[in-house]
Amino acid sequence: MNELAILEIIYIVASVLFIIGLKQLSHPETARRGNIIAAVGMGLAIVGTILFHKKDGEPIGNVGLILIALLIGTIIGWVVARRVRMTAMPQLVSLFNGMGGACAALIALLEFPHLAHSEGSINLLSGGVFNILAGMVIGSVSFAGSMIAFGKLDGRIGDIRTRVLSYANMFFLIVIIGFIAYIMGQGYKAPSEVMPLVIVLFVASLVYGVLFVMPIGGADMPVVISLLNSFTGVAAATGGFLYNNQAMLTGGILVGSAGTILTILMCKAMNRSLLNVIVGVFGGTKGQAAEVKGSIKEITLSDASVLLSYSQKVVIVPGYGLAVAQAQHLCHELEKLLEEKGVEVVYAIHPVAGRMPGHMNVLLAEADVSYDKLIEMDDINPTMSNVDVCVIIGANDVVNPAAIDDPASPIYGMPIIKAHEAKNIIVMKRGMGKGYAAIENNLFYNDKTRMLFGDAKDSLQKLITEIKNL
Ligand code: NDP
Repeated sequence: MNELAILEIIYIVASVLFIIGLKQLSHPETARRGNIIAAVGMGLAIVGTILFHKKDGEPIGNVGLILIALLIGTIIGWVVARRVRMTAMPQLVSLFNGMGGACAALIALLEFPHLAHSEGSINLLSGGVFNILAGMVIGSVSFAGSMIAFGKLDGRIGDIRTRVLSYANMFFLIVIIGFIAYIMGQGYKAPSEVMPLVIVLFVASLVYGVLFVMPIGGADMPVVISLLNSFTGVAAATGGFLYNNQAMLTGGILVGSAGTILTILMCKAMNRSLLNVIVGVFGGTKGQAAEVKGSIKEITLSDASVLLSYSQKVVIVPGYGLAVAQAQHLCHELEKLLEEKGVEVVYAIHPVAGRMPGHMNVLLAEADVSYDKLIEMDDINPTMSNVDVCVIIGANDVVNPAAIDDPASPIYGMPIIKAHEAKNIIVMKRGMGKGYAAIENNLFYNDKTRMLFGDAKDSLQKLITEIKNL
């Protein structure tokens, strides 16, 4: 068997491993294994390429440099991933996603001059040129957008929400598409003549990536993160076409299509249209929610323990604060303790609770909470009025009734967990801090609501002790 055939087989095996890995990622129980399987596929594709790839009969060059780059990348990735706090995971995902986009963009930029034929010119009106320019634009937008998303999630960059910026975005997008058409319309040109135009397109795409994510924020970040993820996949797939590399193509298509499906699901969950995401005209203006009415009422630990112990049905709504406090194990302990007393306890899972898709599922799985206790928002909401106590632990935006009753609110239209319909509400948080969308929450002033202030881990520990002493 010749080396090319061996490489083809390796790429097919790698592609199959990506598909199996992705399938297994769809369930928390198999996700870890799925990740390893996909990583083995990627490792196989890299080693196969280094050993067997031939261009014009010549083996791959610069192997020493490639190995050094691989080593540096592996060490950085390993150390960063080991050290990252669970709550900083979304930023890390954004950063890694941006690296994928940058990689695709740089490949396109470097390979563009190589499209030249033997007589030295490039046929600009060809599928190959469109593919490479599309890869460069999408990869650059993904890189620049992911860096802005990283800054936002890390709290380093705020939102600039103006309609002007949103329309400027739309205009910029049209200009970029027009510019691609202009470059392709140049007919046959030498690489040196066309490269300045390609570099202008590259810079314009980076600027567009920044402008595209800048006005998006608050409750809408999950949608943009998964959209950027799908962009990186598509950009990598264009690289697969460029190199005629099946593993790169399959990997890119899987990431692109999975990211697109997730984006659509996120849009549905957030009640937004995809066009709004692309134009960046989310919600209203940050922080314009209506004035709050009523007063804050606290609950003592002993009152909370009695209320919970003598309830029939308790729903726990976990949120970002639960992850910050790392109180998932204590949360599970509270659940078991109440169940021993005959109370029915389930968790209400909002699709964008926390800071990344599936954050609460992952967090609670870590504490061995049974999957059948995690009830999706659409299934729990119709039952909320029969719930004796809704315990909100470190959640805020995902239970904010302004999403239903305040058209001026930036989160208006976003589906929420209807905690306000429960008979009693206990909110555990440290103080009157706002959520990610930075708006007031009327639920905390509701007559049925009692606040249990303190770090969630601390409060849960004390509450558990109190219930045990009843
Ligand atoms: P929020 O961010 O709305 O609120 C979290 C609350 O937790 C805060 O009000 C804070 O109040 C409290 N808190 C913080 N630390 C602690 C602690 N140690 N102990 C107790 N409480 C604590 O969280 P939600 O989960 O309700 O909503 C998620 C938000 O993030 C949504 O707006 C969503 O759109 C957005 N988002 C989601 C992403 C995703 O993919 N899931 C990605 C990016 C953004 P206090 O300071 O008073 O304690």
